[in-house]
Amino acid sequence: MDRRKFLEKSSHIAGGALLAASLPFKLSGMTPLPPGKLENKKVLFVWGGWSGHEPEKCRDIFVPWLRESGAEIIVSDTLDSYLDKEMMTTRDLIIQVWTMGSISSEQSNGLLDAVRSGAGLAGWHGGLGDSFRENTEYQFMVGGQWVAHPGGVISYVVNITDREDPLTEGLDDFSMHSEQYYMHVDPNVKVLATTTFDNRHAGWIDGCVVPVAWKKYYGDGRVFYSSLGHVAADFEVPEALGIMKRGIIWASESRYGMKENWIKPVY
Ligand SMILES: [Zn+2]
Repeated sequence: MDRRKFLEKSSHIAGGALLAASLPFKLSGMTPLPPGKLENKKVLFVWGGWSGHEPEKCRDIFVPWLRESGAEIIVSDTLDSYLDKEMMTTRDLIIQVWTMGSISSEQSNGLLDAVRSGAGLAGWHGGLGDSFRENTEYQFMVGGQWVAHPGGVISYVVNITDREDPLTEGLDDFSMHSEQYYMHVDPNVKVLATTTFDNRHAGWIDGCVVPVAWKKYYGDGRVFYSSLGHVAADFEVPEALGIMKRGIIWASESRYGMKENWIKPVY
């Protein structure tokens, strides 16, 4: 079925909502989100931490979408949720929006154990990639840690480096006006998009290429990260929102999808 026919069919089946949800991706050349994947998925959405990253506003972008998509979602503003063993063992997916702050070893173990045992994990920007700076095992799980955003909020380009992976298939390079995250990244993650730094704010990193979005495993759990989403308005960029939604869907399939194998050492 071609794209236009799919959209027409979708609008017949689900009314305007699905069509409207697909529109940003049509504009950006992105294929529609795979329907039905979040149906009945058990999701824990934990938000908090540094308020400059607008965790509450971001919650209000993603939680309604998850609900509309049929996910069974628990929304929590405390890391103590990670202590609830019974609840954690039933999660298909954990989304965390928690910049900086600290996590106790009990809370941290609750999260790490759940992902190692097969729960997916997804998040963006500092909410997943700059959460608990003292916790190296947490960083081992995420696969990267924010270290700088030279120049603060600037204009930069995101390059799609993997055009075959379903998460970034059909996407073109796009521009952001936000923080360009310079990250320390596990060299064994599967990188989907990158950004190249210039000499405007830190001359020695001119030409440096840093991952923007990646997928990986921690134990049996799928982990997806995107550095886009400094503030809620960043998700008005259709590609930034689309990559994140696709990453969330992919991570939510952690217990059901095939284990992917794409470790390709480059050195
Ligand atoms: Zn930020």
